[in-house]
Amino acid sequence: MKITKIETHVCHAKMRNWIFVKVITDEPGLFGWGEATLEWHTRGVVGAIEDLSQLLIGEDPTRVEYLWQMMYRQHFWHGNGIVRSTAIAGIDIALWDIMGKSLGVPCNKLWGGPVRDHIRTYAHLGGGRMEDFYETADDDHKRFGELAQEAVEKGYTAFKTMAVPSTMPIEGSKPINYAINNVSAMREAVGEDIDIMVDCHARPSPAMGLKFGKALEPFNLYFYEEPCWPESIKGLSMINKALTTPVATGERLTHLAQFKDLFEARGCEICQLDITHCGGLSEAKRIAALAEAHRIALAPHNPQGPISTAASLEFGFSQPSYIICETVTEDVPWRKDIVTEGFTMEPKGQIVFPNTKPGLGIEINEEEIKKHPFKQEILQRTFYKDNSIGDW
Ligand SMILES: [Mg+2]
Repeated sequence: MKITKIETHVCHAKMRNWIFVKVITDEPGLFGWGEATLEWHTRGVVGAIEDLSQLLIGEDPTRVEYLWQMMYRQHFWHGNGIVRSTAIAGIDIALWDIMGKSLGVPCNKLWGGPVRDHIRTYAHLGGGRMEDFYETADDDHKRFGELAQEAVEKGYTAFKTMAVPSTMPIEGSKPINYAINNVSAMREAVGEDIDIMVDCHARPSPAMGLKFGKALEPFNLYFYEEPCWPESIKGLSMINKALTTPVATGERLTHLAQFKDLFEARGCEICQLDITHCGGLSEAKRIAALAEAHRIALAPHNPQGPISTAASLEFGFSQPSYIICETVTEDVPWRKDIVTEGFTMEPKGQIVFPNTKPGLGIEINEEEIKKHPFKQEILQRTFYKDNSIGDW
């Protein structure tokens, strides 16, 4: 079997352009789907996939690790910058899909078979609608409470929220009280049995990340995400050691060695590897093994499109330390028109049962994708009160 073509299919999904990667083989009807979505870098990733394809055309797609090594090492520049690692991931996911299809088994069987009966998923507040998750007004803690209630009514037992505002490196009580009011309103709305996660989007400095974390300790968060820049491993480690709330991070790390440094410093208790950015399923398996050695849990970052979700779930069924999967369902109303999924979702509890179809178990409707061609993503920039630059 040989790879004959690698295509990218870009689908504009409001906040992101989903980049779907189709690896086609010389066996009639046998192809694989991957995803390489990277908001605000769509053209770069599409170009990187085109560059990588020159290494792969004519190769056997079932030599997945061999081809991963080729993509990572054989353009001289190692494939660990965010654009290349995302491009590699998109192709790697598609190769595993081909492998499963060629053997007639779901991908999780390729990695030892399911280690659990179902996977718990969590929602973004507002289901991933951009306006609700990222643009809730600063003083609107009531809205946080309402949206939290909405998530629980949809069957979720856990949800994530951006309840912490953007702050300069040091600020006083106002943003801290704002965060406390938001989380308090959500806890009041849903009670003690629902798990709440707070994502800081790596906006705070380590000092502010610690202040927010300490202030939110009484609400017993399930996890506390990206409390400072991912580059600040010492900051993450300091915060993780100072809190009983477990710190989660890892969505912006792109290769194994970065995770090694993070784990060695005990910068987190939950590893949020992103399968579409960390080099794909091949690298994710290595990161997961390293996390296992440190007894660090896995909860993949997955706000992208439906192929990312299928890959994150297939992976989860094979990983003992996997605790929960991020899902977005309401970013665009036509999500279900694009994909037919192989797994089944139980609305009560929003839990997923394993896919039984070969590969990732998904079918992609290319005609539907054509209805949503590339558009420039909406910029979501942050400026502080003095007009200096902040993190989104
Ligand atoms: Mg995050």
